[in-house]
Amino acid sequence: GSTIGILGGGQLGRMIAIAAAQLGYRTHIYAPETSGPAADVSPRWTCAAYEDASALAAFADSVDVVTYEFENIDPGAVEVLSTHGLVRPGAAALRVAQDRLAEKNFVRHLGGLTAPFASVESLDDLEQAIATIGSRAILKTNRMGYDGKGQARLNEPGDAVGAWNAIGRQSAILEGFVTFEEEFSVILARSVDGGIRFWDSPANVHVDGILSTSIAPGGERIEAQVDAARALAAQVAQALDYVGVLTLEFFASADGPVFNEMAPRVHNSGHWTIEGAVTSQFENHVRAICGLPLGDTALAAKSVQMRNLIGEEANDWQAILADPVNHLHLYGKHEARPGRKMGHVTRLTL
Ligand code: ATP
Ligand code: MG
Ligand code: MG
Repeated sequence: GSTIGILGGGQLGRMIAIAAAQLGYRTHIYAPETSGPAADVSPRWTCAAYEDASALAAFADSVDVVTYEFENIDPGAVEVLSTHGLVRPGAAALRVAQDRLAEKNFVRHLGGLTAPFASVESLDDLEQAIATIGSRAILKTNRMGYDGKGQARLNEPGDAVGAWNAIGRQSAILEGFVTFEEEFSVILARSVDGGIRFWDSPANVHVDGILSTSIAPGGERIEAQVDAARALAAQVAQALDYVGVLTLEFFASADGPVFNEMAPRVHNSGHWTIEGAVTSQFENHVRAICGLPLGDTALAAKSVQMRNLIGEEANDWQAILADPVNHLHLYGKHEARPGRKMGHVTRLTL
């Protein structure tokens, strides 16, 4: 049997490993932690730093294909992995998607709409950026941010110093605040032969910068913008010679779909596909990176709702199971810290 190497051992790695096992593959996790949600389901685990070139090389040599649930690894590490084996999606996708400035420039070059943005390397840069973009803005670190971490909201020019300090005075971008009606994501799988399948685009609701719910299909306002968003996403995937699941987040605005960010991997807003689509994002990701044909991405119900269980919300799991319609997913995390994604619940309306 073949083995899939996965960088990162969180819940995304866990759900990739479950899908891999179902298709007869073994998984081998590489992560800096000694254990994590993926440990329960992956037969092999290497605990080493993403900077450890020799451990990365040994890992790549021990598996048939390397993928990731965590894209924030150094380009040097990706190079090591690529010279020792097959990395899917490839180094180009990682390089673009792990840097907000790079991904926004990339998408703009392809003709996509983004919020106005400017590179910020100093407090001076930030003050200049505010002068052109305006002070209703968000300062975001270029790298490593997720779940709204590494971001600071600005409302007036006087907020510059506080925001610059809040994000730790590092490489960042200032983004103008987008007035949007709704948020949605385009989730696609691209196979080795270049074929693309899209899932229905869910409407995503964020609370405090963290995804709260995804509902598919997303509704009329989103449907009206999905074709344009998909065309852009397909261009992105082709330009990167992408293999695997790719996610792009959009704001549905009065001017059309505004690209927010991309993730070169399976995505939280696609968790509903486990029960709600004919083939889940996890299964199609495994199929794609293993060179297999993709499964049907059609909806398996009239409507599907996914709700994240954040922090203490997961303590209510017995009440959730009391409704037989609910599909409960718990990630096996022991500590319910505030803001931590502990699991999710999916409901289908047939
Ligand atoms: P993720 O967990 O999705 O990777 P992240 O930390 O990368 O999150 P973003 O996606 O950049 O954060 O922002 C989180 C949320 O904050 C967005 O989904 C949106 O609701 C809001 N947001 C971000 N940027 C803007 C913007 N320019 N204008 C308006 N709202 C924004
Ligand atoms: Mg992000
Ligand atoms: Mg996001």
